[in-house]
Amino acid sequence: MPRLFVGHDLSQGAVIGLDKEQSLYLAAVLRKAVGDEVVLFNGREGAWLCRLTSDSKKSVVLEAVEQIAPQTPVSDLWYGFAPLKSERLDYVIQKAVEMGAGVIQPVMTQYTQVNRLKTERLSANAIEAAEQCEVLSVPEIGDEVSLERLLGTWKEVHGTRKLVFADEGAASSSPLETLDGLRGERIGLLVGPEGGFSDEEREKLNGLDFVVPISLGPRILRADTAAVAALAVIQATIGDWR
Ligand code: SAM
Repeated sequence: MPRLFVGHDLSQGAVIGLDKEQSLYLAAVLRKAVGDEVVLFNGREGAWLCRLTSDSKKSVVLEAVEQIAPQTPVSDLWYGFAPLKSERLDYVIQKAVEMGAGVIQPVMTQYTQVNRLKTERLSANAIEAAEQCEVLSVPEIGDEVSLERLLGTWKEVHGTRKLVFADEGAASSSPLETLDGLRGERIGLLVGPEGGFSDEEREKLNGLDFVVPISLGPRILRADTAAVAALAVIQATIGDWR
């Protein structure tokens, strides 16, 4: 059954008018008609079974019938990444949502090759991934921040949260033991750009008491591969896969 993210409030009997894009998708692409049902969610009131009361391709209208899943809390997993170019950026955003990140934070590092981010594109990817993988809260997409500012304000913003640093310069080892030592801590993950972290950045990161470097094994992974690999080991050892 199709799942769509909407901004509207959802409650018993609520009437929801979709925008042109979503109306076209439901009425023309999926050929939904009056009486058909879809699931709507808004990130606040859980998932609702809704029935089409109008199937106009320009403005589909639905009525909320019943809540079929309660709202789940937003994940506390913070994910910082150096933006990649175009479709790999789309990929990283979608995988971060599927892997359970609650905040997705673009971090501009020395070798980041992207300097202008279209945040509406990032949000659209996050919403599409949330619809597809049945996440009920769409992760927050942060405004881009420099690595220097991120680290300089970390404690003030994040308190005791630890920052797991995927360090391609670390000696090859399994991250499981290191991550196991963080059980019960609030966690952030930082993954670098295609060009990796500079030596100065690595030195600065490894000198901070809230930073916990991990290796992702003996091979250099592409940044988008590293993101999925690091999020997987975090979720599997101390995250919500357990
Ligand atoms: N400097 C290399 C390059 O130019 O290809 C490595 C950069 S790598 C493609 C991008 C990011 O993925 C790194 O900054 C790091 O965060 C992560 N990464 C890749 N392989 C890793 C590994 N074996 N251990 C830890 N992190 C890794």
